[in-house]
Amino acid sequence: MAPPGAGKGTQATKIVELTGKPQVSTGDMLRSALSEGTELGVEAKAFMESGKLVPDEVIIGLIRERLKQPDASNGVLFDGFPRTILQAEALEEITKVSTVISIEVPDDEIVNRIIGRRMDPVTGDIFHVTFNPAPEEIQDRLVQRKDDTEETVRSRLDAYHKQTKPLGNWYGERGLLISIDGTGSILEVGALVTSAVNTV
Ligand code: AMP
Repeated sequence: MAPPGAGKGTQATKIVELTGKPQVSTGDMLRSALSEGTELGVEAKAFMESGKLVPDEVIIGLIRERLKQPDASNGVLFDGFPRTILQAEALEEITKVSTVISIEVPDDEIVNRIIGRRMDPVTGDIFHVTFNPAPEEIQDRLVQRKDDTEETVRSRLDAYHKQTKPLGNWYGERGLLISIDGTGSILEVGALVTSAVNTV
């Protein structure tokens, strides 16, 4: 878990490399549904574009289906899920959570990071115009997420503090939470993530 723009997706890629477990990103699944125009995409669109959370029952249904895939049988890395206590409770019924990594970044830094964020639609790689520029040859194809505007970021931060942050305590009480300082460089945060994964 992490506020938007804290490096959740970037560090998730690193954990996938370290563990070989597939990444299950509810944000990515919803964005694919949106671009394919499926029923799920139509349902999720307004929530996502305004920075609000998609209803719990939609997300839980999505996760239930995803975990039935053969590649999920040896465990997965959830990215951006669960995001509410209700989702965490539903997850407890479905499978066992071994560790929760929380990447902590103060709000002031988040807005700067998000506005400069760019994504490569071909590989899904994430860059930042200043902090992590993409190679010259792919610059032309980079896109900005529709929800990476200042107004939407404020609403996503609000959702994070109200609905997701309490989950930190919830997992902390269960002895599953590892908190990481996310204010350093991608490499520095990556080193902290690596040592957290190695303790699991
Ligand atoms: P993300 O890529 O993880 O930042 O997710 C982008 C957007 O998708 C969020 O702002 C929410 O609108 C929606 N979303 C992703 N994951 C969840 C979730 N677990 N619960 C509710 N909404 C979600």
